Amino acid sequence: MAKVNPFKSGLQQLNKAAELMELDPAVHERLQFPKREIHISIPVRMDDGSVKVFEGYRVQYDDSRGPYKGGIRFHPATDIHEVKALSFWMTFKCAVVGIPLGGGKGGIKVDPKKLSETELEKLARGFMRRLANDVGPEKDIPAPDVYTTPQIMAWMMDEYEQIHAKHAPGMITGKPLSIGGSEGRGYSTAQGGVYVTLELAKQLKLKKGATVAIQGYGNAGAYMAKILTKKGYKVIAVSDSRGGVVNEKGLDPVEIEKHKQETGSVSDFPGAKNITNEQILTTKCDILVPAALENVITKENAGKIKVRAIVELANGPTTPEADEKLFRKGIVVVPDILANAGGVTVSYFEQVQNSYNYYWTEKEVLQKLEPIMVSSFNSVWDTMDRYGCDMRTAAYIVAAKRIEEAMLARGIA
Ligand code: GLU
Repeated sequence: MAKVNPFKSGLQQLNKAAELMELDPAVHERLQFPKREIHISIPVRMDDGSVKVFEGYRVQYDDSRGPYKGGIRFHPATDIHEVKALSFWMTFKCAVVGIPLGGGKGGIKVDPKKLSETELEKLARGFMRRLANDVGPEKDIPAPDVYTTPQIMAWMMDEYEQIHAKHAPGMITGKPLSIGGSEGRGYSTAQGGVYVTLELAKQLKLKKGATVAIQGYGNAGAYMAKILTKKGYKVIAVSDSRGGVVNEKGLDPVEIEKHKQETGSVSDFPGAKNITNEQILTTKCDILVPAALENVITKENAGKIKVRAIVELANGPTTPEADEKLFRKGIVVVPDILANAGGVTVSYFEQVQNSYNYYWTEKEVLQKLEPIMVSSFNSVWDTMDRYGCDMRTAAYIVAAKRIEEAMLARGIA
């Protein structure tokens, strides 16, 4: 099976929307390319005294609507194509929820599980030393992504502040609360996903106790399981990179999390049946939530998916060919750029609080997040009805209209 280039998938998704909405051709042309791609190398003195060089990237895709915004991923399989795709999706994500930010993304090719705490700190600081003049609260604002944490954001912010000899908490988001993080940011990706799921449930007339399968039990997946359970949904299957478990009677997400912390994986959870990471995608239930990496729902397995809807907490989990198949089968896909936008929305709130130097309660954060997610869902839903297209294309139409307006207002070339 040929590896799908996620950036090409992103462009295909945009092309569909561009045609339907008659996007300005100059804007469409501009959106085929990132504004800047930065490649860096980061030398780290390892604990054993040797020096290892890590490759890193920051792609600044588009800043027509505001400073570039997007996380930094630490993953052994990341590369420039993936980071470019992720920065492209960030551009549309910020636009679909209407926050005044553009799109960027960063990555380091590394398996962080193989580094000690001190090596990880050196790597994070080294990344920021290379990029200290390219990022900043008014330029480009990083955040966490796969395998990066509030602690890593703290090291990066500290390095940046030392280099520039001033405080600048708004240069990065997803920080610990003690140094300018926002209440609610830790679970905001999942919380935003829950708000859109509740809207979707109204449209699809899903009943209480609707069943859910979640692929990926990291930050987003685990919180999604916990919050949906509290809302009366039944999580029947979960998985992580090492395998998964299913129990039709429902799983306790808190117990699963404890089990994962103790054993390193959700598999072998007492009272549940082990399944593979591939099997979870074809579990019969109401809602499937991919919450890990790209390209997991493909033309090979899309035909076997037996759910009413897919809520994409991961970025880019569905390939364009799979999208076509799912659309023909009548499976609703709530696209990543909408479904997981709660994370970046609370990152935006974090930045707003940093620039005020005045902080909100958790309740205030949620009171501001909910209406953004609900109204964004509904405008995408209405656009889908108006154009008779799938939800992803509708989300691109909503987003691209806003980007088009900003680009044309500034002047295109
Ligand atoms: N990494 C998250 C995402 O993919 C959050 C980005 C941010 O907060 O800037 O949306």
